[in-house]
Amino acid sequence: MAKSSKSKVKTDKTPVDLLTAKQAKAEYARLQAEIIAHDKRYYQQDRPVISDAEYDALRVRYNAIEARFPDLRTLESLSLKVGAAPARGFAKIRHAVPMLSLDNAFADEDVSDFVGRIRRFLKLSEDEKITFSAEPKIDGLSMSLRYEDGELVTAATRGDGSEGEDVTANIRTIKQVPQQLKGKHIPKICEVRGEVYMTKSDFLKLNERQKAADDTIFANPRNSAAGSLRQKDPGITASRPLGFFAYAWGEMSDMPADSQSGMIKWFASCGFKTNPLTKIRHSVEELLAFHREIEQTRADLDYDIDGVVYKVDRLDWQERLGFVSRSPRWAIAHKFRAERAVTVLKDIEIQVGRTGTLTPVAKLEPVGVGGVIVQNATLHNEDYIKGIGGDGEPLREGRDIRIGDTVIVQRAGDVIPQVVDVVLDKRPKDAKPYHFPKKCPCYLHTDIVREETATGEEGAHARCTGEFACPYQKIEHLKLFASRRAFDIEGLGEKQIELFFEKEWVKEPADIFTLEKKHKSDLLEEEGYGETSVRNLFAAIEQRRTIPLERFIYALGIRQVGETTALALARGYGSWKAFHDASLKVAKGDQEAIAEMDALDQIGETVIESIKAYFAENHNKGIVERLTKEVTILDAEKPKTDSKIAGKTVVFTGSLEKMTREEAKATAERLGAKTSGSVSKKTDYVVAGPGAGSKLAEAKKHGVKVLTEDEWLTLIGG
Ligand code: AMP
Repeated sequence: MAKSSKSKVKTDKTPVDLLTAKQAKAEYARLQAEIIAHDKRYYQQDRPVISDAEYDALRVRYNAIEARFPDLRTLESLSLKVGAAPARGFAKIRHAVPMLSLDNAFADEDVSDFVGRIRRFLKLSEDEKITFSAEPKIDGLSMSLRYEDGELVTAATRGDGSEGEDVTANIRTIKQVPQQLKGKHIPKICEVRGEVYMTKSDFLKLNERQKAADDTIFANPRNSAAGSLRQKDPGITASRPLGFFAYAWGEMSDMPADSQSGMIKWFASCGFKTNPLTKIRHSVEELLAFHREIEQTRADLDYDIDGVVYKVDRLDWQERLGFVSRSPRWAIAHKFRAERAVTVLKDIEIQVGRTGTLTPVAKLEPVGVGGVIVQNATLHNEDYIKGIGGDGEPLREGRDIRIGDTVIVQRAGDVIPQVVDVVLDKRPKDAKPYHFPKKCPCYLHTDIVREETATGEEGAHARCTGEFACPYQKIEHLKLFASRRAFDIEGLGEKQIELFFEKEWVKEPADIFTLEKKHKSDLLEEEGYGETSVRNLFAAIEQRRTIPLERFIYALGIRQVGETTALALARGYGSWKAFHDASLKVAKGDQEAIAEMDALDQIGETVIESIKAYFAENHNKGIVERLTKEVTILDAEKPKTDSKIAGKTVVFTGSLEKMTREEAKATAERLGAKTSGSVSKKTDYVVAGPGAGSKLAEAKKHGVKVLTEDEWLTLIGG
């Protein structure tokens, strides 16, 4: 297909100095419309049709005309928007302290488990009071605002948690974000975090305006806040009503308070808006009552919330509790019940996932659920459709779902919409029972098997046996590979992968890195791929040629190896070579290598089985080998060098008296040590409390240093 032609750029040849007022007026209006259209293609559709230089030429001429005929300027003039020529693309900002997510609680028991876990971790007695800050969970987008000497210097989105987008210019247009912090004793560095949001009423008004202007309609207030903030032209952000609630912080050179609630008060004193519904609560019962109360007022609030958040109020306890992978142990988001709607099931299609799992997807009569139009929803698996058990709630024992049925769909936050029930009274006579396929819908028509559960019984999920020969599985793996949490290649989204796969330019991950060399000219022939977007794509690919170990392991798409497991493996082995050598040995059934992997924190039998299966497969080994020739894999983050135990392997045994085993392990890891469940000659310290048994004997056998709990605390500095 022909590449978009450059003849789209029509700058008039007449020098601006010689234009008549009438000519200038006409050209000014034409240029304005043209620039807006190019911005839209570039920023909203990712499909520029002209080069950067050509775009700049349009802006230069536009500005020149306006300079000569200032009367042409109206409120809509592009030059009036802050930052005359919008920057193309956002720069990245690395967060000094990562921006993490929150664990979720759905049921009441999840909340009591959360409080119980904290009690156990901190070794608190039943009568010791825990104070919580209970806050509404604002459904907007989180933002980190950095103040130096009290002055706003940068603003960044959460991004992938370690790196976000620099949206400083846009944030400066939000009135509720102070440019300068109020107060006398402002720490030199303050990173204030919170949520940017749009009110429901402003969202509705904005959509009306967008509709009238034939512009993008947003699905919900959260999307419109995100869309408004991620504008390359801060002038557009300035025209959108956005608010900000402060509730957290990142790097602070000094702490102005010693509790969460104290910090919130301090934010308010600095000039931030803080959420008025935030309350102090002391027990599970009080937390649950808070949840009910806020859920009831939810509909009356003018901003969206999707739950409440409970945070341990004391900051010294927060610090002791620390984090588990991406979420703090000291906080939990208690979500609200999902929103539901009733609609008609028109058809069922089968989707094949990355690991070959077949998921039946309901094709629905489009219906609005909590502000979003839903047309597809998961039906989980064959048994679920038959009404004989399954993953969804409530269970519909005996009530199957048929095509033509009226069904209830549910959405909960970011969770994929699901069909949760069927309305039997409305079943039409010609409703058709569904027969789950026996063969994979891919062109191989491979057999479908039901997966086994951990206990060896037949599981509910069907799987295609085609493995890497199955095109659906290949393509799903490629999508995972390029996705945000793996290689995070900007501009290489699902659509692009599908196209490149279909063209056979990218059949496996390594092909992504040879795409420029082998298919640049093919790509330039594709519709929608101009010089600029192709250049940006290749630059994004090049940028990711160097990759942290944990992301690389995750991107391999090994079953059971999600982000957390990949991180545990990366930390456990330190380098790609060590992990790869060990995995090849595990695949051969080497017992020592298996035991070593098993001793790593968070790694168990199922993960080891998957790694074994993955690296035993020649096809996978080939994929990995070709890929590693293309990329540079960084060693796992070095342990903190200023700690005495950095890089050491520690085993805890017996009962500890001053802290729980869990807390001891977490502290050791935070200080850069590895913790292990078994003693070997590679162990550096065994910390033994009363009742230590075989591990103590093992330590003596291998000549490993044994410490008491107190000696350990002295070693790590308390
Ligand atoms: P999740 O993205 O579901 O892991 O939830 C974490 C996100 O909740 C944070 O990144 C914030 O954007 C958002 N959030 C909203 N309100 C609060 C709050 N009061 N405290 C902490 N996080 C909040």
